[in-house]
Amino acid sequence: MAFTVAIDGPAAAGKGTVSRAVAETFGFAHLDTGLLYRATGRRTLDGTDPIDAARALTAADLEADDLRTPEVAQAASRVAAIAEVRAALMDFQRAFARRAGGAVLDGRDIGTVICPEAEVKLYVTASDDVRAQRRLAELLKTGHETDYDTVLEDLRNRDARDSARIDAPLKPAKDAVVLDTSKMSIEEAVAAAEREIRAAMR
Ligand code: C5P
Repeated sequence: MAFTVAIDGPAAAGKGTVSRAVAETFGFAHLDTGLLYRATGRRTLDGTDPIDAARALTAADLEADDLRTPEVAQAASRVAAIAEVRAALMDFQRAFARRAGGAVLDGRDIGTVICPEAEVKLYVTASDDVRAQRRLAELLKTGHETDYDTVLEDLRNRDARDSARIDAPLKPAKDAVVLDTSKMSIEEAVAAAEREIRAAMR
């Protein structure tokens, strides 16, 4: 049986953490759709055309170990504004969403464009300050040299570009449940998401 959980929201709001946890709890497959755009963006850094890059994406591209760098994040957000890039990545995401056994997809347009019929739609967000603190801690832990102001500016640039684009802009679906994790622990955010999923399963 197909059962789709769509989790959208701005950068570093906690979507990934919540998605991985609920996928584990319910035995659903999980797709971090940001990786598709990061892998496409990464390919363009050596001059490859973004549309060709998206069409030629392979599973191995999603496993590259440098997809989490700030440079690749910005490249991802630039290629994500191109309609043909989004179109090239759509079928894969839709098929993943409707696979048997349930699926969690996190991204920017899952509840609005990829899976408007998802059984559960969450919009996970947090204040700019909290998101910048979380992303800074992550980057420092993985050996990146950066600081709070740079990370905050990076997030704001990316959110502005993601929200302003014409094609599939970042915004909550009309029927999404908004989860503001600014003052929540990871456990509280996961518990809130699990409550919504259980309610939809009944
Ligand atoms: O989620 P993550 O930060 O890895 O996403 C990187 C970029 O990919 C985002 O800033 C956004 O531009 C793009 N993206 C998107 N639609 C998605 C997932 C990610 O446009 N469903």
